[in-house]
Amino acid sequence: MRTFFTATLTAMALSMIAPLCVAQGPSATVENGPVKAPKKPVSFDLSAIDKSANPCTDFYQYACGGWMKDNPIPPDQVRWGRFNELAEYNDYLLYKELKAAASTPRTALQKQYGDFYAACMNTREVDQLGARPLDPEMDAIAALKSTEDLAAFNAQQIRRGGGGFFSIVVTQDQKNSSQQIAATRQGGLTLPDRDYYLNTGQRYVKIRSQYVDHMVKMFTLLGDTHDKAISEANNVMRIETALAKGSMSRVDMRDPANRYHMLSVAELQQLTPNYNWKTYLNGIGLPEVSQIDVVSPGYVKAVNEVLTTEPLQAIKSYLRWHALHAAAPLLSKPFEEENFAFFSQTLEGQKQEQPRWKRCTRLTDQALGEAVGQDWVKQHFPPNAKANTQKLVEALEASMAEDLKSLPWMSDATKAQALDKLHAIADKIGYPAHWKDYSSVVVKRDDLLSDEEHANWFERKRNLDKYGKPVDTSEWEMTPPTVNAYYEPSQNNINFPAGILQPPFYDNSLDAAVNFGGIGVVIGHEMTHAFDDEGAKYDLHGNVKGWWTAEDTARFKERTACMVKEYGGFEAVPGQTGQNLNGHLTLGENTADNGGLRIAYQALMETLAKQGAAAEPGYVDGKRDGYTPAQRFFISFGQVWCENRTEQYAGVAAKVDPHSPGRWRANGSVQNFPAFGKAFGCHAGQPMMPAGGGCRTW
Ligand SMILES: [Zn+2]
Repeated sequence: MRTFFTATLTAMALSMIAPLCVAQGPSATVENGPVKAPKKPVSFDLSAIDKSANPCTDFYQYACGGWMKDNPIPPDQVRWGRFNELAEYNDYLLYKELKAAASTPRTALQKQYGDFYAACMNTREVDQLGARPLDPEMDAIAALKSTEDLAAFNAQQIRRGGGGFFSIVVTQDQKNSSQQIAATRQGGLTLPDRDYYLNTGQRYVKIRSQYVDHMVKMFTLLGDTHDKAISEANNVMRIETALAKGSMSRVDMRDPANRYHMLSVAELQQLTPNYNWKTYLNGIGLPEVSQIDVVSPGYVKAVNEVLTTEPLQAIKSYLRWHALHAAAPLLSKPFEEENFAFFSQTLEGQKQEQPRWKRCTRLTDQALGEAVGQDWVKQHFPPNAKANTQKLVEALEASMAEDLKSLPWMSDATKAQALDKLHAIADKIGYPAHWKDYSSVVVKRDDLLSDEEHANWFERKRNLDKYGKPVDTSEWEMTPPTVNAYYEPSQNNINFPAGILQPPFYDNSLDAAVNFGGIGVVIGHEMTHAFDDEGAKYDLHGNVKGWWTAEDTARFKERTACMVKEYGGFEAVPGQTGQNLNGHLTLGENTADNGGLRIAYQALMETLAKQGAAAEPGYVDGKRDGYTPAQRFFISFGQVWCENRTEQYAGVAAKVDPHSPGRWRANGSVQNFPAFGKAFGCHAGQPMMPAGGGCRTW
């Protein structure tokens, strides 16, 4: 599984390698009034600091208290933090390009993405069409004669982005990373996690009942009678609950061993007698597949059970629901509003829908990201940013090597292997070396759903075409304006899109302390993912293969167990006791946060020593601000995590987000790193400087 720097929930609910863009999809509301330019975020913001807080007691409050007070959650957001500020800024620049391309395109590429954006903004057309764009899919479902038709149906629907129960993706073989194999994963749920179907707590019981109400409303909008809608919603709930029971938990999914089960097609066929895999594989153009990695055998068995026991009518309800739900944000106003009311408002606490331009900008970036992105980087990513980031990456690599060599708990044999893996990590900065060629994607200005389907099929086809071919490690999983970063364990590379290489993460005009605390920690975080509880199971070539001695593995587990317990003690929803973070789910990200902070700090100290810089209070805008470089480093780091989130969103995130909330990404990391307490003159025993030094893995 790829490990991203930060996450949003809508995407994560869908699959294990979901991209992270916040898209809700577009709706049928019109763009109200002129679009205001958001303010450009700044690094190291003195006004964000809450001087009344004690950094040794609650560093996050100290670094971010002012910011949190001055930046309440905008009504069209569920979480508002520094990542969102920058993403909004990037999206605004993207929006201006899209708008210009929609009216006066100068190149074929601009014509294509301009038309896509225009189709999305064309609410009159979208509203007039109502649910009619779904007719072909609904007709295909109505025409199913028995569950035996399902494989052929799925193979056909893949072109429209739909289908149901099963699908195939092509992915690197985790035991032989140079091979591209076929895999079938779990999915098929609508609520954010299996727990939403199975947990008997009052909160979940209520959400389930609200979900059923929502489905009834949606089916009714589609034209079904109220009675039929109720029966269909109950069918869907029963089937999804059965699938949830068979699904693997997010925590179990983190272990590569749990998600690797190579079966011959004949063996898989035995597991699912009611689903004809040969028909499906032939239908999607992969007749040569003989083996499939069945990621979640429990899910496959659950689907087979459903196909065996459920009447055809119920299966049709499920297929209709998934087609309707997936298309809802792209349909006319009533569908789009009801979809917003349940998934954004009820589930995550969002007060207002995002203006249409924001949603259409996100949608276009998702659909044709490398088309829009190549123009975006020309204008907004200065060439020196790439070279400067490269230098930072090298400083971080050197620091991590020193860190590995000096680890007190690891044997020399394992250290040598770890260093080999570190030196093999490839760096990708800014944007892809080769852009995707979208010329085959048909885009029409008056047919949003079909544009979206063509773009989806382009990506699905690209993926399926990779079967049996060499791996292209130059590809990117994120578009250039994305404010995020990731480590790809099967390729052992780290990736930093152009979008994140700006304030508050990186500002070339500021001192090293601020940049190492910002983008430096991000880089260190991604590098450390190569050695977290999941990444450490992959070797330098991206294969899941043991390279540790048994003793070192045992010591590593002891150390990570310390962090599981520590973060499991942090409350997930501020001021609400009773729901804590899941220390197992967040272990990889917490490990990366802690390691990243430590190696970025050490890299800064090396850099300052080389520069002969004195460790004395620094200057901002010509004025002495009173902070030492070490303090500026930690404040810059802490301020990356300033955020506010709705209570509802915090609750969902606690279940599905492998990242801790900003408060604990800041406080958890500094309380495990004695250099922080030293920099701020804390006493041992204060919360941010626990006696004994806290937990440390890397
Ligand atoms: Zn991460």
